[in-house]
Amino acid sequence: MFDNLTEKLQNTFKRMRNKGRLTEDDVREGLRDVRMALLEADVNFKVVKDFLSRVEQEAIGQDILESLTPAQGVVRIVRDQLTELMGNHVERIKMASNPPTVIYLVGLQGSGKTTSTAKLAKMLKQQGRQPLMVATDIYRPAAVDQLQALGQQIGVPVIYEDGLSPVQLVREGWQRSRQMAKDVILVDTAGRLHIDNALMDELVQMQKEVPAHETLLVVDAMTGQDAVRVAKAFKETLPVTGVILTKLDGDARGGAALSIRAVTDLPIKLIATGEKVDALEAFQPDRMASRILGMGDVLTLIEKAEQSLDKDEIETHAKRIGTKDFNFEDFQAMLKQVKKLGPLSKVMELLPGMGPLNLNKLKDQVDDKGLDRVEAIINSMTILERRKPDIIDGSRRLRIAKGSGTSVQEVNRLVKQFYEMRKVMKQMKGSGHKRKFPKLPF
Ligand code: GDP
Repeated sequence: MFDNLTEKLQNTFKRMRNKGRLTEDDVREGLRDVRMALLEADVNFKVVKDFLSRVEQEAIGQDILESLTPAQGVVRIVRDQLTELMGNHVERIKMASNPPTVIYLVGLQGSGKTTSTAKLAKMLKQQGRQPLMVATDIYRPAAVDQLQALGQQIGVPVIYEDGLSPVQLVREGWQRSRQMAKDVILVDTAGRLHIDNALMDELVQMQKEVPAHETLLVVDAMTGQDAVRVAKAFKETLPVTGVILTKLDGDARGGAALSIRAVTDLPIKLIATGEKVDALEAFQPDRMASRILGMGDVLTLIEKAEQSLDKDEIETHAKRIGTKDFNFEDFQAMLKQVKKLGPLSKVMELLPGMGPLNLNKLKDQVDDKGLDRVEAIINSMTILERRKPDIIDGSRRLRIAKGSGTSVQEVNRLVKQFYEMRKVMKQMKGSGHKRKFPKLPF
């Protein structure tokens, strides 16, 4: 996410830190680099200008330059101002006090509306709601099929009938929600390649028929300033209440995320970070600011862990860490939990200090394919071998290698690393000292 921007900002602040004490001119010079970095990330020109004048005012006006670590003070101000720029706090989806809540997803074609509709339905379902989706993109049959397939995947009904107009379809959706006792209606609407009057008119008619509680504009973060223009145009005609920013997993530069709120006054409510149905998160400006500055986002990582990991399972196996009983069965169980957190590269992005430079270096060493191979090797062991790794002799290694589609060398390496790891963990537990951790086998 925003790799280029993060890298440039990190370099700027590193230069500042290396200087130790800072003069006003040093700060101004640093902020000029920040300005370039933001403009290159396609942040709106006026937004950058206002942002920097606020940062400068605070950085120079305060006692920061007198402090022992002035560069850190500047980073803190930049982080706070970035947070403010993106809206300061989390903006939730508003639920009607009298259900059903009606949520329209609008936007240009390809922005990610259909996918986001299903993602949001899944998120709401997990929160205990009873959503229903309505397919109204009658101009693109593939969109209807796509929503129906996603609906099936997440177990949420999709309302659609051949021959009905979008206006008739939302009415149908509303009636069916009453019959089926559903409390949220998510309307996936048609998009066009460009904003046109017919599209807007149709959306206005639909909302006359079934008024919206939320009208969420879906915009593609990769389109930078265009996303901001689209948001402005939609807001002129429709009662847009918030933005879903999609494709943040791609090489979006940051312009949309950092400008939309300031230019249009629309809050970003949700962000999408992948094609899968669970890749949707509430937008948290403070965490995003930390991520942009390469400070990681440990809170999100912890939340992810809490949601996806099985605590009892971890405790059972973790107890044996550092004892001679720790075996491949424990290892396999822990590996499974690690994989639940998602691709390793994404998990690593959330760690502090993982700027794009470090991340790229590490990605060469740690990859999910390696993890899959380790898992395949352990899966090919018999239960006895997993429990008593000592019996894994030469002929067993050959069998395991064949069974897992790997090589004897890889099996040897894993077994060796397993023993090394067990030894070090035992020493760590015994001495209470931190020692260098051995290289992990994936
Ligand atoms: P619509 O035309 O607005 O309904 O857009 P779709 O929901 O069909 O999405 C267009 C394409 O973008 C599809 O290939 C989606 O899988 C992809 N897409 C949507 N959201 C994301 C996202 O957050 N990340 C990535 N990488 N792809 C996405």
